[in-house]
Amino acid sequence: MTRVFSGIKPTGHLTLGNYLGALRRWAEVDQHRSDALFCVVDLHALTVEHDPERVRRLSRQLATLFLACGLDPDVSTVFVQSHVPEHTRLSYLLECTATDGEMRRMIQYKEKAALERARGGSVRLSLLTYPALMAADILAYGTDEVPVGDDQTQHVELARDLAVRFNQRYGETFVVPRANPPAVAARVMNLQDPTSKMGKSEASAAGVVHLLDEPDVVRSKILRAVTDSGREVVHDREAKPGVSNLLEILSSCTGGNPEALAGVYESYGALKKDTAEAVVELLEPVQAKHKELCADPGYVEEVLMRGAERARAMARPRVDAAYEAIGLLPPG
Ligand code: ATP
Ligand code: MG
Repeated sequence: MTRVFSGIKPTGHLTLGNYLGALRRWAEVDQHRSDALFCVVDLHALTVEHDPERVRRLSRQLATLFLACGLDPDVSTVFVQSHVPEHTRLSYLLECTATDGEMRRMIQYKEKAALERARGGSVRLSLLTYPALMAADILAYGTDEVPVGDDQTQHVELARDLAVRFNQRYGETFVVPRANPPAVAARVMNLQDPTSKMGKSEASAAGVVHLLDEPDVVRSKILRAVTDSGREVVHDREAKPGVSNLLEILSSCTGGNPEALAGVYESYGALKKDTAEAVVELLEPVQAKHKELCADPGYVEEVLMRGAERARAMARPRVDAAYEAIGLLPPG
């Protein structure tokens, strides 16, 4: 059976981008067709300036939302990265496999490092080595496929390269994984700046729809979305990034295709109105389930405990094998 691994880091409140680009597909498709692991990748949240209490709170919320979005802990393994020490154990070996040039070339590193510097902060070393830990997340489980939005495909490519290199140098140890971005909504854009990605650690919430936003907040964010010059509704990411983003969101909610949908609308206003209603409808069941789960925090905790045990049992033999292959003495 295909092994699937994916994760989200607790750096902010989940966005519509996280849902359409990752979570919805995990719940509706991936967990049913594969042996899947879904992870709150909390160690990755420490790569940028963070508040300890906030990371803890967001980790709990993220795990709860995983379940609210439909991940079924009886079907897939839902867990927290820091509960399974194999991730960091393997990450070090992959740092010994990767080069610093490879890490510095990563677009996410360049963007996030620039952001940290612009805020007057310094850049944590872990931000640079982040892709080695992400590769460890993936490779520890013999993952075949990584369902991620297309902002993460470069990191998955690096995980592939490291798997191949390690196998060539030290013997066949890792499965070589591949990224699997969604057909539509692989990159939901910020509503206020449709040339940049909608991200959960964005400073301003105006262009970001959060999964737990009240219906009226969702409506007002979408109705105020920046649109493009002209009046014609066409799907063209270059010429009309704002309108194209709305068309992609709407088609991802309703199942249509963005080009065909464009022909249906005569004004930006009508497109915004329908997009807002489609998103409100999409989020309604997730929010209701989230509320239910919040009333029973013990249940989520128990799911995470079971998930970590299962994950550890899956990761340990391969990571132990990697330790031996690379030249370390097995203990005892
Ligand atoms: P941050 O701003 O802290 O990087 P993020 O919103 O980018 O947060 P991640 O934890 O980096 O979220 O990524 C979680 C998953 O969500 C990944 O699979 C990523 O590809 C996907 N994803 C994130 N943003 C979008 C987006 N705007 N459109 C589609 N998929 C997205
Ligand atoms: Mg991100």
